[in-house]
Amino acid sequence: MQNPGIHSIRVGDITVTALNDGQFEASTAIVNGVSEAAAAAAESGAFRVLPPRITVSAFLLDVGGRKILIDTGCGTAFGPAMGKSRDRLATLGVTPADIATILVTHAHIDHVSGLIDAAGAPCFPNAEIVVNGLETAFWLDDATAAAAPEAAKGAFATAQGALRPYAARTRTVSDGQEAAQGITCRHLPGHTPGHSGWLIASGADTLLVWGDVVHLPGIQFALPQAGLAFDTDSDAARATRARAFDMAATDRLLVAGMHLDFPTFGHVVKAGAGYGFVPVVWRPES
Ligand SMILES: [Zn+2]
Repeated sequence: MQNPGIHSIRVGDITVTALNDGQFEASTAIVNGVSEAAAAAAESGAFRVLPPRITVSAFLLDVGGRKILIDTGCGTAFGPAMGKSRDRLATLGVTPADIATILVTHAHIDHVSGLIDAAGAPCFPNAEIVVNGLETAFWLDDATAAAAPEAAKGAFATAQGALRPYAARTRTVSDGQEAAQGITCRHLPGHTPGHSGWLIASGADTLLVWGDVVHLPGIQFALPQAGLAFDTDSDAARATRARAFDMAATDRLLVAGMHLDFPTFGHVVKAGAGYGFVPVVWRPES
């Protein structure tokens, strides 16, 4: 019996709940910036299985009764083993109609596919979408999509299929702009052009939900130069990861991420030439 894939913490007056969407098998072949052997050695050195697995989560925020999602997981895109966020919400008694706002970190398949059902219809009848304008400008631009290499065309189709049904209720923001009370957009470019974290501040507490700064925790904390084949701009993603790790470690900033080990909340610490991740300790109250 595993835990139910639901874990809440408090950030001031805001309850932040990690919703595990599932976990899929990846490959060290998708890692760039380090050799595949070095990636495999880091992963197994961190007592993890090979091939490596990627965990996916989304987040539910309760801000004074207002329900906000950050990303929506895989939906039906990866089959029944993934897309569990919807079930987690149901377990919590939250219906899609209850969601007022959905903050999108970026428009990749494992983050936006939960916006739509298998037929492509929107799942959230009342939700406003908030996303960095650089992200929609990239993925929803027909000329950019047409000019994309063949291998990237599927990603454009996915992003457009998920975001276009919400076009009339999408609000774009830029770096530093507030998306909702106490929640600010932090542009973390590289993985995608508009990839952004959401900085949640309430009372004395702060949490940065940093999206996809890390996909493979066993590899990328120890070897921050290790990037992913899915990065639109691997060098920019590497620079963003270096800045994010340094900031989180220096400022003792609590972070969470869509591909950190569930329940994803923790702190970044310097460790040797790289970094480590210290998960928050479990406690019975949120
Ligand atoms: Zn992702």
